[in-house]
Amino acid sequence: MLAVEEALKRIYGHIKPLGTETVPLRAAANRVLAEPVIARHNQPPFDSSAMDGYAVRAAEAGIGRSLTLAGTAQAGQRFVGMMDRGQCVRIFTGAPLPIGADAVVMQEETEVHGNQISFLEAVRVGQSVRRQGNDFKRGDALIAPGTLLTPARISLAAASNLPELVVNRRPRIAILSSGDELVQPGSSIGADQIVSSNNFGLAALLSPFAERVVDLGIVRDDPKAIEAALLSAFDDGIDVLITSGGASVGDRDYMQEVLKDLGVAMDFWKLRMRPGKPLMFGVRGRTLIFGLPGNPVSAMATAHVVVKPTLKRIVGLAETEWPRFTVALAGPLPANGPRRHYLRGKLIRNDFGMLEVDPISETDSGHISSLAASDCFIVQPENDEGRSKGSVIEVIPLDWG
Ligand code: AMP
Ligand code: MG
Repeated sequence: MLAVEEALKRIYGHIKPLGTETVPLRAAANRVLAEPVIARHNQPPFDSSAMDGYAVRAAEAGIGRSLTLAGTAQAGQRFVGMMDRGQCVRIFTGAPLPIGADAVVMQEETEVHGNQISFLEAVRVGQSVRRQGNDFKRGDALIAPGTLLTPARISLAAASNLPELVVNRRPRIAILSSGDELVQPGSSIGADQIVSSNNFGLAALLSPFAERVVDLGIVRDDPKAIEAALLSAFDDGIDVLITSGGASVGDRDYMQEVLKDLGVAMDFWKLRMRPGKPLMFGVRGRTLIFGLPGNPVSAMATAHVVVKPTLKRIVGLAETEWPRFTVALAGPLPANGPRRHYLRGKLIRNDFGMLEVDPISETDSGHISSLAASDCFIVQPENDEGRSKGSVIEVIPLDWG
């Protein structure tokens, strides 16, 4: 049985970059940048006001003093000419600072008497002024390759005057569910049947990293049927194929056998984790194949622990973009055996307002409602001797990061 890190290392060794594509800003959210964003101008491009108020010479303004209003500077329309001694200029946020001014006094700190403006507070040079290039300067490396394009980074890329960005291509993913007992949601459930749910959860989990996720539907526990479904996925040039069910060693677990028959080079099929021991990984041509266990919590756990990190790699996310989270336990954990345990957990706030993780005692790998009530997996190391409340432990958030 393979340790999780060892498995990931082996999988990463098979990843081939998918190349890059250029997308408009509006389609760039959540993509991974491939070419750096370099500033081509200064931001702000000129000294500008951070407030609505009056542009002044700081030395001339101050408590009890007053200046003569000489004109207006709007965002997009500067005050033309020079602001003379004894003068001030009405100015609005984002407007260029008039020549001669060195500070802005916000309007709440002034009094207006006709064209005389008097000041209620001390004024210092540079106050409420955004200096040219204070945000970024021409030539600055603003966003590095390997960075996730978050909303603020999209905004930054737009501010740097780029209408489109070069991002890494995402893989095409296909999901195949196998099992004689499975029916589609919405069916009338016959005797001995259950609803196929894994494919829906997996598609939702993995689609942020995918060009598209194709649901190949349900195949019966019949080698011929499995073979036909797999072959059509391979023919479609799928980058990542995910199967669920039929991965263990039961009499009707044909997945491994058929994958091998189709020329898939199996790398490993057992992982030292629970839930999720029967996890297969293999490669066929350009396609990476993950054979996930059918139990719904096992399928989700292996997808979070193994498939998602692989997809992050494929889309070129830099390691620094994968935060690790640790929090204190809100309750004890029993000792663990030789397989790393991914326990369901609920994030809560303790009496001091600090985040803690409350372990959910349910460990049945088929019990999806308890996973749905969780917000993380608690990662208990192999052979851990048990933990008391307050012990700090790693968690894998389910729905962010
Ligand atoms: P298997 O890995 O095929 O031995 O399946 C293990 C358990 O997971 C069985 O109880 C299956 O009914 C269940 N299962 C398999 N595939 C799915 C699926 N797509 N959705 C929900 N449960 C499944
Ligand atoms: Mg089965």
